[in-house]
Amino acid sequence: MVRIEDLEKKYIINTYNRQPGVVPCFVKGEGSYLWDEEGKKYLDFLSGLAVNVTGHCHEKVVKAIQEQVALLSHTSNLYYTGPQALLAQKLVENTLIGGKVFFANSGAEANEAAIKLARKNKPGCYKIITAERSFHGRTMATLTATGQPKYQKPFVPLLESFSYGIFNDLDSFEALIDDKTAAIMIEPIQGEGGVYAAEKAFLKGLRDLCTKKDILLIFDEVQCGMGRTGKLWAFEHYDLKPDLVTVAKGLGGGLPIGALIAAEKYAAVLKPGEHASTFGGNPVVCAAALAVLEIILAEGFLAEVKNKGQILEEGLKDILQQNEVKGAGYRGLGLMCAIETGELVAKNIYDYCLKEGLLLNAIGEHTLRLLPPLTISTGELKEGLVIIQKALKEALLEGGI
Ligand code: PLP
Repeated sequence: MVRIEDLEKKYIINTYNRQPGVVPCFVKGEGSYLWDEEGKKYLDFLSGLAVNVTGHCHEKVVKAIQEQVALLSHTSNLYYTGPQALLAQKLVENTLIGGKVFFANSGAEANEAAIKLARKNKPGCYKIITAERSFHGRTMATLTATGQPKYQKPFVPLLESFSYGIFNDLDSFEALIDDKTAAIMIEPIQGEGGVYAAEKAFLKGLRDLCTKKDILLIFDEVQCGMGRTGKLWAFEHYDLKPDLVTVAKGLGGGLPIGALIAAEKYAAVLKPGEHASTFGGNPVVCAAALAVLEIILAEGFLAEVKNKGQILEEGLKDILQQNEVKGAGYRGLGLMCAIETGELVAKNIYDYCLKEGLLLNAIGEHTLRLLPPLTISTGELKEGLVIIQKALKEALLEGGI
C-alpha cells in the first residue's frame, strides 16, 4: 500500500518539516473535528491557521461551492462574473472604510496589492514602515515587510524601502517617517508573532500620524479579521479607520482567497493593467466567501464569538492559576489567543494535546496559539480545556522540560 508520508518525503519540497508518525494525515472534517487515516478524531483548536472560521465542511459553504462549481468555475478576469461583484459589495458594505476591492488568492498577495497601491499613491514615495515581530507573508515584498529576521535571513538582499518600528511604541514609528514614506502597515493584533494586541493609544497615534504626514495606514487583518475577535474586523475595537484593509485566510471558508479593500479616496489609484491575478475573484471561491460572510454576519453570531472567547479566556486563566505554572500567562481577544507557557516548554504541551486528539499550535519555545473555529460550541471549548489542563499537569510532572 502506498503511504502518504513516503510520497510526501519523496516528492514534496520539505518546507513544512512534518514529522512522520507524529503528525496525522487528515482525511475528513466536520464542524470542529477532523479525522485521520486511522479514524482517530481530533478537536480542532487551530482552524487550519485561522482559516476554517465556519468549521469544517459547513453545510452552507459546501452547498455554495457545489452549486457554483457545477455552474461556472473560471473565466479569467477579462469578463464579468456575478459572485466576485456580489462579494465585493458585501465586503465594502460591511467594512467601515467603504471603497472598493481587489481580489487575490492569499494573504501575501492581498498585502502585495496594498504595498503596490501605497507606492503608486504618491509618486516618489516608496517606503513602508511595519512592526517588529509582524508577519505579512512570504513573497519577497511581504517577507521584507515581515519584521522577523529569522524568516528573512536566508533570502538577503531583501527589497529596500522597508523599516520596522517597535509594536506599541508610537515614537519608534514616528522616527522612521521621512519624505519618501508611503505607508505604515500593521496587524491590529499580531498573530504569528504571538498574539499581541495593539494598544488603543498606539493605533490612534498611528492613525493621527498617518493623517498628519499624508501617508496611508494599512491594516493587515489576514489573521485577526473575519470575526475572530468578536467583531468582523479587529480594528472595530479601536474606533478608528484605516485607509486600506487586507483580508484572506477565513474569508474563503477553506478555499484560497485574499482581498484588498481600499477606502474610496484610494480606490482609483491602481489603473487597468497595473495589477492583476489570473485566479483572483474566482467564482467558486467568491461563492464560498459569500456563504462564509452570510454565516458570520447573521444576527447574534459575532456576539456569540465574544461570549465563547470569554469562556476560553476564563478557562485558560483558571487552568494556569490552578496549576501554578511559573511565568505563565494568557493573551488574546475573542477566539484568537495565546498561552505563555512560562517554565514549561510549549512543544511538550502541544505533543501531549496532539496525542490526546486536540490540535493547537506551538510558536516559539514558550508560546501556544489557539484559534478555534468561530462556530465551536461551548461544550467543545470545554472538552479542549480539559485536555489542556491534563497536558499542563503532565508537563509539570515531567519537570517542565
Ligand atoms: N498576514 C498575516 C497577518 C498572516 O497571519 C499571514 C499568514 O499567516 C499572512 C499575512 C500571509 O498569508 P498567506 O499565507 O495566505 O499568504
